[in-house]
Amino acid sequence: MYAMVLKKIGTELEWNELADPNPGPGEIRVKVAACGVCRTDLHVVDGDLPDQKVPIIPGHEIVGRIDLIGADVVGLSIGERVGIPWLGHTCGVCPYCLEHRENLCDHPLFTGYTRNGGFATMAIADARFAFPLGETGSDISLAPLLCAGLIGWRSLVISGAGKKIGLYGFGAAAHIVAQVAKWQGRSVFAFTRPGDVATQSFARSLGATWAGGSNEMPPEPLDAAIIFAIVGDLVPLVLKAVRKGGRVVCAGIHMSDIPSFPYRLLWEERQLVSVANLTRQDGIDFLRLAPDMGIATKTTSYPLKQANQALADLRAGRFEGAAVLVP
Ligand SMILES: [Zn+2]
Ligand SMILES: [Zn+2]
Repeated sequence: MYAMVLKKIGTELEWNELADPNPGPGEIRVKVAACGVCRTDLHVVDGDLPDQKVPIIPGHEIVGRIDLIGADVVGLSIGERVGIPWLGHTCGVCPYCLEHRENLCDHPLFTGYTRNGGFATMAIADARFAFPLGETGSDISLAPLLCAGLIGWRSLVISGAGKKIGLYGFGAAAHIVAQVAKWQGRSVFAFTRPGDVATQSFARSLGATWAGGSNEMPPEPLDAAIIFAIVGDLVPLVLKAVRKGGRVVCAGIHMSDIPSFPYRLLWEERQLVSVANLTRQDGIDFLRLAPDMGIATKTTSYPLKQANQALADLRAGRFEGAAVLVP
C-alpha cells in the first residue's frame, strides 16, 4: 500500500510504500476510495494534540470498500462501501462507555491520530466503528460527512432546539450544518473571518439568512451558536450575540486561549459547553437522515500524493467547503 505518513511533528507528510496491512480479529481492511481532510489533521501535523504518536497516517473521513475481513466480524461483507470516522475504538467497560457516552471513553483510539487513518490506499478499522454507507452518493461527496458532518450534527443537537443558530467559522462542518439546520426549519446566521465576502456569499448560497464578519453582531439575538473556528477570542463575542438562556457550543478539538470576560456575558443562564468526538449512535442517526436532508457537500479534490498541498490550502482558507484526497 501507499500512504502519506507523518514522520515528525511539524514536518510535511511523506509518500511511503508500506506492507499491505492485515485485519486482526474484529477488524476489516478497506480499499480507500476517498478521504476528507479535516482541521484536526492540521492539529495532528502541528502537534497541537496531547501525546501525538509518530509515525502516523492521518485522515479520519474515510470512504472505502471492504476487501478483507478479520475473524469474528459480523454484519459486514466484502465489497461493501463503508465510512470510517474519527472514533476508531472504545473500551466498552469504562464508566463513560457504560453510560452510553462512548465519545468520552477513557481508553479510546482515534482514526488518524492514535491509529492509522485514511491518507493511504488501504486502511484497517475496528469493524464495530465502520458505518455502512449504501450506494447513494459519490465517494468524494460522502467523505466530509464522516467528521465535518458528524461532529457538526452532534454540535447542532447539543445546541438545542433554538430557531436562530449562529455558525462561527464557515468551513467544512458549518457548510454541512447550515444545510441540516435549514432542512430542520431553523434560520442560520453565518460568521466568517472579517472581510471574507466570498465565504459570506457561499453561506448565503446555502440558505443562510444572514452572513457577516465574526466581529459583527447579528441583526437579532441568537438562540444558540456553534463555534467551529479555533479562535478563543471569539468566545466572549459569541456570548454577547446569544439571548438570555442561549447556549454556545465549542465544536473544535483545539482552540487558542479564551480571554477573560465580564461575568455579565454568561449571566442570565447563558451556557458555554464543548462537544467532544462522536458516538456511534450519532453516526447512525445522522447518516440515516443525510439522504433525506439533501446535503450537497462542496468539495475540492486532490490526488493522495498532494496531501500536503491540501493541508496548506485548508490552513490558508483557499477553498470553500471541504478538501478530499483521492488515492
Ligand atoms: Zn471506554
Ligand atoms: Zn475531523
